[in-house]
Amino acid sequence: MTGQEDPRALIAIACRVLKANGHDDYVWGHVSIRDAAGRGTWMKSSGLGFEEVSADDVILIDDEGQIVEGDRPRHAEWPIHTEILAANPHLNAVVHTHPPHAIALAAAGQPLLPLSHAGTLFTPPEVPRFDLTANLIVDRGLGAALAGVLGDQRAAFMVNHGIVTAGASLEEAVVRAVLLENACRQQLLALQAGTPITAPDARASLAKRATVWPPGHLQSLWDYLVRTLPTTEQGASL
Ligand SMILES: [Zn+2]
Repeated sequence: MTGQEDPRALIAIACRVLKANGHDDYVWGHVSIRDAAGRGTWMKSSGLGFEEVSADDVILIDDEGQIVEGDRPRHAEWPIHTEILAANPHLNAVVHTHPPHAIALAAAGQPLLPLSHAGTLFTPPEVPRFDLTANLIVDRGLGAALAGVLGDQRAAFMVNHGIVTAGASLEEAVVRAVLLENACRQQLLALQAGTPITAPDARASLAKRATVWPPGHLQSLWDYLVRTLPTTEQGASL
């Protein structure tokens, strides 16, 4: 788990999992892990697609965004990561991507419904919507505002931009990102039918969540996603 293995290698694997599961957007999107020694935040560097990232392409930044380890360039949106981690001492990882179905659903103004196993993981309550800006999160104030909208939840829509997920581990944050995009895709498919969508009510959805998503299940999904990566990508980051 996070903190017990090389965060750079874990970030490289996480990038490949995201690439293979609907989060590809050219060279955009990034993931991070809190440094176990308190030196800052490990983060994917900029200019590379998810499938290109190796351990050597991961940098360590401090709370001001200064690179303290690594020689690759930094993503402009580093405050997403540092501010969410600063606001949530119990969390250790953040994912920010631009998945198409989540962007479409959020832009349509539709709240995510618990119409599938994936959706039940996130709602109720309603998935937060950050709509202060659709532009990049390039300063600490905007990062803090995003962290405020996320609150104590672990996923949020960034309207007309993307999503952010967080977790106690990077594995958890990545699986949440994958499931959020799946849930949004399923809802958009249901909407195309043009008939009312059925979904469990709040109480039933929470009861279902307890059954479908017991502790440790997100880790099981992570293990599956890593096992089923194309073999060329499994070895590429080691
Ligand atoms: Zn972005």
